Amino acid sequence: MRKIEHIGIAVKDLAAANENYSKLFNAAPYKMEGIESEGVNTSFFLIGDSKIELLEATNQESAIARFIDKKGEGIHHIAYDVKDIVVERKRLIEEGFQAIGEIKNGADNKLVCFFHPKSANGVLVELCQERSK
Ligand code: ZN
Repeated sequence: MRKIEHIGIAVKDLAAANENYSKLFNAAPYKMEGIESEGVNTSFFLIGDSKIELLEATNQESAIARFIDKKGEGIHHIAYDVKDIVVERKRLIEEGFQAIGEIKNGADNKLVCFFHPKSANGVLVELCQERSK
């Protein structure tokens, strides 16, 4: 893993959260994107080299809706930038980390995959690799 790519925060109302975080950072999101297959709308903020992703559920079955039902709004995952997501996913599985699903297309032009919070002391882990254009 090379660095933290972004931190994902689950929010109830993306428009309201965008307004709030725009004040916090004194900057607007650089990108907004819906991921229909995941049932989420996202926005991304850039603070220096660091990114914050806000995620809102678009339906009640979405992982974000379930997360908020259980825990309320808050930090949902930490995403780590990897050079080769296939190699790194395999390495973690071999180390005993519990993968959730397969590698898929995520927001912000990334290939992503997830590991269960149980595997990482309570924090959902996302690996992401920049998709070649
Ligand atoms: Zn993310």
